[in-house]
Amino acid sequence: MVSMGGLFNASEKEIRDGYTMDVYFERTKRILENRGLAGVPVWAEFTGSSLPRGWDWAVFCGLQEVLNLLEGSDVSIYSVPEGTVFRPRTDNSVRVPLMNFHGPYTGFGEMETAILGMICQPSGIATAAARTKIAAKWKTVLAFGNRRMHPAISGVIDRSAYIGGCDAVSSRMGGDITDTVPVGTVPHALMLMMGSNDSAFRAFDEIIEPEVPRMMLIDTFSDERTAALDACRSVKDLKGVRLDTPGSRRGNFKELINEVRWELDMYGYTDVDIIVSGGLDETSVAKIADTCVAAFGVGTSISNAPTLDLSMDIVEKDGTPISKRGKFGGRKFTYRCPHCFNMGVSLRPDDEIRCSCGSVMDMIEVPVMIDGRKVLPDRTPSEIRDSVMAQVRQISELGSE
Ligand SMILES: [Zn+2]
Repeated sequence: MVSMGGLFNASEKEIRDGYTMDVYFERTKRILENRGLAGVPVWAEFTGSSLPRGWDWAVFCGLQEVLNLLEGSDVSIYSVPEGTVFRPRTDNSVRVPLMNFHGPYTGFGEMETAILGMICQPSGIATAAARTKIAAKWKTVLAFGNRRMHPAISGVIDRSAYIGGCDAVSSRMGGDITDTVPVGTVPHALMLMMGSNDSAFRAFDEIIEPEVPRMMLIDTFSDERTAALDACRSVKDLKGVRLDTPGSRRGNFKELINEVRWELDMYGYTDVDIIVSGGLDETSVAKIADTCVAAFGVGTSISNAPTLDLSMDIVEKDGTPISKRGKFGGRKFTYRCPHCFNMGVSLRPDDEIRCSCGSVMDMIEVPVMIDGRKVLPDRTPSEIRDSVMAQVRQISELGSE
């Protein structure tokens, strides 16, 4: 039970015990058990109807956590791989199943709230990260957005941002989950507490372990150009300078960045990178992607990405197709064109579906859990990210939005 004096996030046990589920699922379970329908086998599919902000593709993220949640249950899961770049519908408006569940409805039904949450929000974050990576023209993108979201989901946000294309994350938990070294520069608080740029730069360099890259923030007190040179002179192995220039001082940000670069180069600090941050999103990143910026620190626009509106629907009950109005019944298999990412859906796994481009589509669903047992080795976030990057490069070359 939540105590008003404690933190308000659910523990893993509370999620597994159904404490966070929508209350009507527990009532449904009791009714089905009372009427002897608890063991009726169903197929249920997870699909989306449209994507937020007019996106026409998205990155499927969160499968690993769903499998971790349902391991040991009596459900079987057939899913597109985590990291699949997908469009939500076929040309014939059929919703494309991302996951198909088979088993007694009561074996997973009351977990619907948790399962959807584990894929809808992470997929939105991964998609925003992928889009930012495209906007940055494949330059380094650092995920800095945890501070605007509840800390209980920092690990989820960082994993999703990393899988979608961010090169590094900022929290220790996110670093552990993604098996990457978390990154950070310095907060304005350090300069304010130390009283000057120079004393903060020197103290950082003296006290922080040498393996931590030296990246100094240069917009706290003075002009970025002056502070950038101060940082170079104060810190021996300076890796980079970060401009988090406040909006009220930004003027022409692109010119400011170029001027700092010029100054650094003129005094021989050509190896010092320029990192920018502060309210960036895919639009503002795109505007400065062609400058000399080496890395973008992107926060809220990724961590607070719109959640995908996916839903779970029963499509077959006891061997017979069934569905609510507005949904297509029957257990379906998901196909995708290897060239243009158009999607196909069939009632058979061995159909030959031709894309409008003429190519034969691949059937992309795989069994991932049989009767509560994982049947594939867990993939590392880095493997999933590599596959996402390859697909995102391909789809971005098609000019898709
Ligand atoms: Zn095609």
